[in-house]
Amino acid sequence: MAKIIKVQKGTKDILPQEVEQWHKLEKNALDIFTRYGYREIRTPIFEATELFARGVGDTTDIVNKEMYTFEKSDRSLTLRPENTAGVVRSFIENGMARLSAPVKLWYKGPMFRYERPQAGRQRQFHQVGVEMFGIKEPTADAEVILLAVDYLESLGLNDLEVEINSLGCPKCREEYKNKIKEVLKPEFDNLCEDCQNRYEKNPLRLLDCKVDSCKEIFAKPEIQKVIQSDFICDECAQHYKELKSYLDDLHIKYSENKLLVRGLDYYNRTVFEVKSNNLGSQNAVCGGGRYDSLVRNLGGEDTPAVGWAMGMERLNSLLPDVEPEKLDGYIVSNSSAEAFKFAQELRNQGLKIEFDLANKKFTKQLEKASKVAKFALILGEDEIKANKVSIKNLSTSEQVTVDRIDVTAKIKG
Ligand code: ATP
Ligand code: MG
Repeated sequence: MAKIIKVQKGTKDILPQEVEQWHKLEKNALDIFTRYGYREIRTPIFEATELFARGVGDTTDIVNKEMYTFEKSDRSLTLRPENTAGVVRSFIENGMARLSAPVKLWYKGPMFRYERPQAGRQRQFHQVGVEMFGIKEPTADAEVILLAVDYLESLGLNDLEVEINSLGCPKCREEYKNKIKEVLKPEFDNLCEDCQNRYEKNPLRLLDCKVDSCKEIFAKPEIQKVIQSDFICDECAQHYKELKSYLDDLHIKYSENKLLVRGLDYYNRTVFEVKSNNLGSQNAVCGGGRYDSLVRNLGGEDTPAVGWAMGMERLNSLLPDVEPEKLDGYIVSNSSAEAFKFAQELRNQGLKIEFDLANKKFTKQLEKASKVAKFALILGEDEIKANKVSIKNLSTSEQVTVDRIDVTAKIKG
């Protein structure tokens, strides 16, 4: 026998028995996002490596460790690890800044990160996400958070926790970064290797570290004092205050978490996550924030923006399994030719219909019908002659014979 080739580590097939759940995630996304004025955008799966180096930031784990990068015709290309950079590239390239603000876009699709596979963490995974361009006011931040909550509730997920924080602007954050560095300096040798590497380049990221020994260091009172301090400038504080008041008005429950800094370089002011207690250690389903400098950094005009992305595998793992839907009818007949014709008649009327393509015995066909369909549609010789069909309701075993043209009404009725 030929050698079997297996699926790659960190990737998964989405099998037919799971795909209905995916359809639900996608359908609700289209429905809900459309209500808020979003339009779908589909950008390529691979982009120039430089887009992510500049767009996600070369101090991030994603760019430093997790990208699938390859060369083709002397170009360095990368499978997208996230989609904000791609959407921003397209926004700029297609002149969307000229459209009247806000420009609201959503996407869904696979992302690729070379991470250690574990529960809730794959190398190819899927995200659904939104990006809103052109509005600097906190109404935009509030609306995207509301949208996330609304979407999650449409899926039946009501018990998730929204966490928010403000990272300030590059100006006020600079001072904060320096203070964090200063207070952590005496502890430098005790920090994990990742934190030591981030210390110079991206000190805020340290707060996000999941290593226990680092968490203990950050819990020390003198360090907590700096972390918990209100470092943001008056303007940023006002923006944050207004955001919170909109969230309060909208009855969105949230908590403030000063340790929430998010992995990406491009965020300013608002950052947020939505977490579930039912996901183990990879507990974030949604992450997002404001990124007012990204469009400019990627060569566009100054355009404020805010958005989020959700991990669809993590969403799926929170949803109950969807029962596969049965066929409306399974045709039971000794005449394949008649069954074929009748199946087409009913399919054309929108019913889900199958019949036995292998011409098995009548009793076998009935057995199959009772497993896969709501009704057995019996076309025996007598029925064919009289242009009738015997319909057996497979949950009640009740059977009636009706004219062929009445079958759809009977089944749908
Ligand atoms: P995490 O803290 O889980 O690593 P992140 O900050 O890297 O998340 P983002 O880049 O903000 O995640 O992506 C948004 C969402 O995408 C996450 O909240 C999560 O639900 C999902 N996600 C991220 N990485 C993976 C992965 N490797 N496998 C499955 N889902 C993922
Ligand atoms: Mg990550």
